[in-house]
Amino acid sequence: MKYISTRGGITPVKFRDAVMMGLATDGGLLLPETFPLITNETLKSWQNLSYQELAFEIISLFADDIPPNDLKRLINASYSTFENPEITPIIRKNGVYILELFHGPTFAFKDVALQLLGNLFSYLLKESGEKMNILGATSGDTGSAAIYGVRGKANINIFILHPHGKTSKIQELQMTTVPDSNVFNIAAEGTFDHCQNIVKKLFGDIPFKKKYSLGAVNSINWARVLAQVVYYFYAWLKVTKESSKEILFSVPTGNFGDIFAGYVAKRMGLPIKKLILATNENNILTRMVNSGDYSIGKVVSTISPSMDIQVASNFERYLYYLFGESPEKIKAAFDNFGKTGKLEFSEAELAQVQKDFLSLSVTQSETRKTIALFYKETGYILDPHTAVGVNAAIKAKQDGEDIICLATAHPAKFGDAVKQAIGREPDIPAQLKKLESLPQRSEKMAADPEKVRAYIEKHAI
Ligand SMILES: *Cc1c(COP(=O)(O)O)cnc(C)c1O
Repeated sequence: MKYISTRGGITPVKFRDAVMMGLATDGGLLLPETFPLITNETLKSWQNLSYQELAFEIISLFADDIPPNDLKRLINASYSTFENPEITPIIRKNGVYILELFHGPTFAFKDVALQLLGNLFSYLLKESGEKMNILGATSGDTGSAAIYGVRGKANINIFILHPHGKTSKIQELQMTTVPDSNVFNIAAEGTFDHCQNIVKKLFGDIPFKKKYSLGAVNSINWARVLAQVVYYFYAWLKVTKESSKEILFSVPTGNFGDIFAGYVAKRMGLPIKKLILATNENNILTRMVNSGDYSIGKVVSTISPSMDIQVASNFERYLYYLFGESPEKIKAAFDNFGKTGKLEFSEAELAQVQKDFLSLSVTQSETRKTIALFYKETGYILDPHTAVGVNAAIKAKQDGEDIICLATAHPAKFGDAVKQAIGREPDIPAQLKKLESLPQRSEKMAADPEKVRAYIEKHAI
């Protein structure tokens, strides 16, 4: 399997090169040349596989340049850190299914992808004899999941900038209590935007990037999307007993990575009727799906902060297919977007979008009500991101339809928002509770790219 760029400017590369490249060198996003098709027969034969076995079946179709036994070992290592033997267990509450994706080390769904990405990096670097310095900015969730993905691994150092005092206490503890010597937390005196701009600036300095082999872990890495494809299949296999039953998935969406993985599963032949694209007040994608209006608004802070995003970086991957796999059309559209802050769609394109997706934007007050109602009726506590998806699913549900809602974080990670909704904080898992007593390590620094650069130069591997 080879990988191409949405912008058409690279010679097709192997899986291993796609993983190391992250963003394509022409500024586009990497995609597989084709999607392997999964028949009903194959699906049936997968019915009794464990999560890890299923992950191997799916990932090996896309990563055929990694020897099967090595890939198996990497997958097994990646999910050995999950505290639930099913990895992503599924439960039924109030007429919908909840797919719990938060049983990894940092209690959010990003672990499913970043545990694997960390192991892939480490494996590929060992083979090539190279080293890598990962640099990233986080508003909370991605940073801790990335740190847990590569902590203690040879040939990798990781530098994560977070805005000092502006993440939740638990998120800060998750990042700063990791004792491994390859982990460097930078607490920047500024906002998340400052952090992100610093990272962008340093990545834009090509000699610096080359000299220190800077690597990225953001959600545009193809391996992250691929790891997430697995749980759509896993959930479908758990829920449907008839071989071709179509179901819906409801996905709380920020950067469009998670829901794009669902789209990949659908293109591979998994019987998905539609993907429900759930947004909070940052609703550019909902406006796009419902009326073709893709125009940037201002980012609003909400109780589901990991979805407070306007321009979804993975959306370009979907647009590539919507535009008939034409790099020229993608380039023209994004040139225009750079100038006007808008993308335009034809009626035929909008009709296609509405075949693939159904979208709802959920307000914070609706989100709190959903958490409260769910708790009252079932005793189950939803985190605010998951609640956005559940609210959308309940509104969209028609008689007899099965909907699987992706639960993207453990409620204890967002205790304040949960308390606003139900009047009490969720129980805190022991692994999170014990972080309070651990020593913290971070470097407080002015939000200045030159300070960060000097710090990296001093501590790079
Ligand atoms: C990152 C994140 C999301 C959004 O996922 P995308 O892949 O960016 O759409 C939703 N919920 C939680 C808890 C997250 O951490």
